[in-house]
Amino acid sequence: MSETRRRLILDLDTGVDDALALAYALGSPDVEVTAVICSYGNVSMRTAVRNTCAVLDLLGHPEVPVFAGADRALDASSPFAPPAGVRRIHGENGLGGASVRGWCRTAPQSALDLLRGVAERGDDTTYVATGPLTNLATELVNVSGLGAALGRVTFMGGALAVPGNVTPCAEANIANDPAAADSVLRGGLRTRMIGLDVTHQVVLTRDDTAAWRELGTPAARLFADMTDHYITVYRQNNPQLGGCPLHDPLAVAAALDPSLVGCLSANLRVDLEGPTRGRTVCDPDRLRDAEKSCEVALEVDEPRFLDYFRLRMARALA
Ligand code: CA
Repeated sequence: MSETRRRLILDLDTGVDDALALAYALGSPDVEVTAVICSYGNVSMRTAVRNTCAVLDLLGHPEVPVFAGADRALDASSPFAPPAGVRRIHGENGLGGASVRGWCRTAPQSALDLLRGVAERGDDTTYVATGPLTNLATELVNVSGLGAALGRVTFMGGALAVPGNVTPCAEANIANDPAAADSVLRGGLRTRMIGLDVTHQVVLTRDDTAAWRELGTPAARLFADMTDHYITVYRQNNPQLGGCPLHDPLAVAAALDPSLVGCLSANLRVDLEGPTRGRTVCDPDRLRDAEKSCEVALEVDEPRFLDYFRLRMARALA
């Protein structure tokens, strides 16, 4: 393994776009995916583990350790089960109903032990979360020095200047655990927010999935089937987009190359109560602080991102 490869930890609730994000990472020549930590949201945590293992096997990377993470929000009393609307978007199995097989395993140690090692070594590890921020909030509390070791953490979630996608104010990952997101955003960690402001500007159409089918591999067929399902649902729910947004792949891409997005520096909080619950908003108490902890992406170079995406998907699916 080359010394110069970027070490990447992904924190996924593996539905369709998380699978695309995982493929993006595995198709990146300069990246070593060192672990996937699973959570809940698009699917239950257990289904996220199964889907992650199946996708890793299919893409020829069964060596990547998969960790079981949070199965519910910080204040929830029972494990999360996806509601009907979410099952429709990501399919009953979370992968658009595409048939998957995989050896469902989780790493024997806990993700906290892995992250304690990262914090102790202070090594250069990039962390990207594309589900609720429950895992990250828990890890930051339990692993001393983790925030400093990770540097800037990129997450897919939130909406600053556009409406939410589960309520007029809230985006799904934040809405699934507003308290966790608030503790991450107000806890001193440096973050990069890839929210609906930018993910709705990067859209995939059936032209791309047709090109994947041409590759003819089992992985390419599965990704085409799964993504066609996702495109169909988005065309029904959000016809103005003209395809499916690449939420989670954009988060991985921006973590690896921040020049893909233009950001506003801000200190954010999350509304925890009332009709705006789950809204990401500038924190009035820290509005004038010179130091801003979050880089909120508001612009994206869509053509360059799509070029990167196509190249990496072709590598991953070949
Ligand atoms: Ca996700």
